[in-house]
Amino acid sequence: MRLIALGVGDTFTEKHHTTALLLEHDGFRLGIDCPDRYRRVLADASARSGQSFKLPTIDHVLVTHVHGDHMNGVEGVAFWKRFAEGKRLELVCSPEVRGAIWDGRLVAPMGQLWDGQRFHSMHFGEYFVHTELGWDGATQVGPFSIRAYRTVHHVPTSALLVTAGGRTLGYSADTAFDPGLLAFFGQADLIVHETNHGPAHTPYAALAALGADLRARMRLVHYPDEHDLVASVIAPLAEGDVLEV
Ligand SMILES: [Zn+2]
Repeated sequence: MRLIALGVGDTFTEKHHTTALLLEHDGFRLGIDCPDRYRRVLADASARSGQSFKLPTIDHVLVTHVHGDHMNGVEGVAFWKRFAEGKRLELVCSPEVRGAIWDGRLVAPMGQLWDGQRFHSMHFGEYFVHTELGWDGATQVGPFSIRAYRTVHHVPTSALLVTAGGRTLGYSADTAFDPGLLAFFGQADLIVHETNHGPAHTPYAALAALGADLRARMRLVHYPDEHDLVASVIAPLAEGDVLEV
């Protein structure tokens, strides 16, 4: 399983794209969260890594929660799939995100289309194929077996434990510091963890105080612009990083 860091910043960043990952295994790609200007995000990761990450090679996107820095790109990606590729976007998300993402976020810009002569009312299923990411058991998406954990955050948010090819990746999504989440990750080969300010995010100091074995398996994302990348005792991911999990 390969992990590509597409974005590493927080919602206020002026240095980075907002946090997003791309997973790859056996030629299958799964986007994890979807920042705005997603094709530009992919182009930047392609330029930095020397590899090609084009939108037509990514049909599946998992949205961890409905905060804009994690899903503002969904509208543009779904329009691209419809108009450029004649497809629907495969959207993987919890029942709570599915319950909010159309009526609470996307219906205003996507709920009608003009065909040159008249308006057409559009509904969720004309743009998206939904795979429910349940809270119990595993959800299979291509070669990825995904378990979800409800994090401590402002809105329902899925942390992920993804297994493919005998390797396991943990991703915190957005969360307050939560020992229960670290227990959920168990002996994951790699853990991508957020850090940021405020009661619904994880302070860097809490992660820096973890044991050396856990820190060695951990990489940081969603860090504030002022995070000291050199002094960080947990390695921060950089955009365009490609890791073999
Ligand atoms: Zn959030």
